[in-house]
Amino acid sequence: MFINHCHVAPNGVFEKEFRRAGIPDRMTSESGTLEALSKIMESLEITKAIAFAPFPYQIATGANDWLCDSLKKYPNIKGFATLNPKGTEAPLLLDYYIGQGLVGCKIHPPVFKVRINDPALNDFYAKAQKLNIPLLFHTGVHGWQLNQYMPLLLDEVAQKFPSLKIIIEHIGGIAFFDQALAVLQNNPNCYAGITGVLSYNNPGYYIPNEKINLLIKTVGSERIIYGLDYPYGSLENWRKEIEIINAWKISEDDKLNILGRTLEKVIDSGK
Ligand SMILES: [Zn+2]
Repeated sequence: MFINHCHVAPNGVFEKEFRRAGIPDRMTSESGTLEALSKIMESLEITKAIAFAPFPYQIATGANDWLCDSLKKYPNIKGFATLNPKGTEAPLLLDYYIGQGLVGCKIHPPVFKVRINDPALNDFYAKAQKLNIPLLFHTGVHGWQLNQYMPLLLDEVAQKFPSLKIIIEHIGGIAFFDQALAVLQNNPNCYAGITGVLSYNNPGYYIPNEKINLLIKTVGSERIIYGLDYPYGSLENWRKEIEIINAWKISEDDKLNILGRTLEKVIDSGK
């Protein structure tokens, strides 16, 4: 299995975050480290994973450099940069970090407060398209103004940049699932990220089975990617999610796609 969407940070960063959030069972200095992720991967028989650079609220500067350096010790973990796509230097930074070995970029519109279809992002999108790397967008209700980052806005980006690979992460959550599905059905360059949507843990993001079935039927497993949202979750829950996928009445090929092959293709097509 090659699994997407793992957040990592240096020792102690997630401990502080979980303390603020009042989640005492996750409050160890090891939470969210690459070392702890490696152990989780071993327990779940995950052979390869994607790790995201920390957000600026976790590490004020140098987060992408930290990830590039740290990954040298973990050949089976590949990295995504975390960037504010609106900065004038954003296309250059993307170019630089892909050159340093990162293989994609995570965009979190409500965290960075950027409107998805802001024309100021066009240079950044053009650069990502040229580099042939995927951009992963958080979608789903997450504070800030919904009309700045509702999934429907990705349709415009996908059409303007028809070979840009767009991962619609969390498929909009339950409130925006239909918008995400419409964009996926309309654009072959869009991929469905089914991270954090398979179990009841987070009711705003849980997508019921019949909707997932519809996604598989209309979009296809060659455009569906599973991720953990590590360390926001527990070993038992990730194990359960992988079991849920393996219990779906779909072909073995479909399962292989969702649990790694699609992700592998999205990452490798540029190389
Ligand atoms: Zn995430």
